[in-house]
Amino acid sequence: MKENLDRINKRIDDAATGCGRNPETIRLVAVSKTVGADRVREAIDAGAVILGENYIQEAREKFDALIDRHVQWHFIGHLQSNKAKYAVRMFDLIHSVESIKLATALDKEARKNGKVQDILIQVNISREETKSGIPEVGAVELITQISRLDHIRVKGLMTMPPFFDAPEQARPFFRQLARLRDRIAAHSIPGVSMAELSMGMTGDFEVAIEEGATLVRIGTAIFGARQ
Ligand SMILES: *Cc1c(COP(=O)(O)O)cnc(C)c1O
Repeated sequence: MKENLDRINKRIDDAATGCGRNPETIRLVAVSKTVGADRVREAIDAGAVILGENYIQEAREKFDALIDRHVQWHFIGHLQSNKAKYAVRMFDLIHSVESIKLATALDKEARKNGKVQDILIQVNISREETKSGIPEVGAVELITQISRLDHIRVKGLMTMPPFFDAPEQARPFFRQLARLRDRIAAHSIPGVSMAELSMGMTGDFEVAIEEGATLVRIGTAIFGARQ
């Protein structure tokens, strides 16, 4: 585990310096879906500081088991509005907000918890029907609506490109998300930050870093192949 993490951190550093970026501007989200609490603890003790989870019920078990560890939990899966309560209690950042309905449910729960919930907007850049996320054309309007919610703070964008064998093929999608980020930032919507770009996974994170990723979500290269 330690070797895997060290190797990934080295590759992140190399990718960043290779394109003239400061490696400290890129954070690793260790994606621990389907991985048991014991192995997640191992990863934390080996240096993982952000865990990424896809399923609320599964995350709750690990969150409780690892309550003694000081790490950040990020939610990266599809989130249903009726699970907003649990999401707000556990997660420092929710990467996958794609509707005003979900944002409103999160805002309500955050208010109850005396919290301001940080979120990213998931964009379906590739427009695949099977993919979550708002289409690019709807992003400014959605973010403008969400910006009026007092207990939600938009911090940037997230995307999942189609699956490719060659990472280079994902580059246009990463580039398009970065351009969208720039366009949204130019709107200067009050209270909205476009600082974060969550993109890149085991197969393509170096390309994502070259295109501006600030959060890379990596599972397989840390924990091994999922069953
Ligand atoms: C599973 C998952 C990842 C990690 O994928 P790997 O290929 O295992 O690195 C990243 N992002 C999301 C949204 C995921 O569901």
